[in-house]
Amino acid sequence: AKAAGKNQVCVFDPRLRAEQVGRSRLVSGLRHALSRDELVVHYQPVVDLVTREVLSVEALLRWQSARGLVMPDRFIPVAEDTGLIVPIGDHVLRRATADARVWFDAHGVGVHVNVSGRQLRRPDVVPTVLGALDAAGLPGRALVLEITETALLATGKPETALVAAHLSELREHGVRVAIDDFGTGYSSLAYLQRLPVDIVKIDGAFTRFAADPGDEARRRRALATAIVDLCATLDLQAVAEQIETAEEAEAVRALGCPLGQGYLFGRPVPRDQIAPLLGSPDVT
Ligand code: C2E
Ligand code: CA
Ligand code: CA
Ligand code: CA
Repeated sequence: AKAAGKNQVCVFDPRLRAEQVGRSRLVSGLRHALSRDELVVHYQPVVDLVTREVLSVEALLRWQSARGLVMPDRFIPVAEDTGLIVPIGDHVLRRATADARVWFDAHGVGVHVNVSGRQLRRPDVVPTVLGALDAAGLPGRALVLEITETALLATGKPETALVAAHLSELREHGVRVAIDDFGTGYSSLAYLQRLPVDIVKIDGAFTRFAADPGDEARRRRALATAIVDLCATLDLQAVAEQIETAEEAEAVRALGCPLGQGYLFGRPVPRDQIAPLLGSPDVT
């Protein structure tokens, strides 16, 4: 079980009980988080591994609750279970596209938004996404939707077809699709076949092979190589995630991976702190 929130009152143990209390508090807090404007979006750069130029940014949600900052791994699963992910996801989409307008106009820097399977199955997902772009004054090519396999796992095959249809329609408007955490699930390759995909984000688990030369690292390197080659063959853009050191950046670049993301290039930061990373305006 995951550690309970730090202000959790631990009555008499049973961990299950503590978790239930934690969870119901989380749910009720989350229900009000939107109206109280406690959900904020931070941004992390995605860079060209050769030039280090920032090509886009990923929107990552944080919850500034009265009891402290809550990270998405803690509340997104609950938001998905309760359906709150739909209004929350809409909020992120609106916020991220509005924020990205300035970067896109000045630098051609677009924005990646994480979306859950529940959002993608909704019949109104296409007008919702196009409406957000429209309100922000952004073209479709400024937006990448990131989907994790776990977000789709709950979905049966017919529903995957529905998601694929929605994504295809959005792609006709220039919106691109990224498969997130690639390689960590059971059916990553199946999703490449069933979904219209433009970008593959290679999970950090595969890119952390530079430092130690052991057997484990050799395997990771082999898998990373295979994924990068597969992407090249299928004309998909590969992004190596969670790059923390210069050695890791060089190692994945040497494999031919064109793009990277991670603390080495920049941590997720509030909107105001992203502008300085974007270099001089693109006016020539
Ligand atoms: P993700 O989409 O795979 O996002 C990348 C996560 O890796 C982020 O965690 C980011 O802060 C972290 N990260 C980035 N670079 C590094 C690095 O160099 N080293 C390490 N160790 N970590 C790094 P974060 O922000 O806590 O988000 C966790 C997950 O929550 C995301 O994983 C995504 O699946 C989900 N999430 C975040 N925002 C949203 C959202 O708006 N909607 C939905 N549906 N899910 C979201
Ligand atoms: Ca992501
Ligand atoms: Ca990821
Ligand atoms: Ca992840």
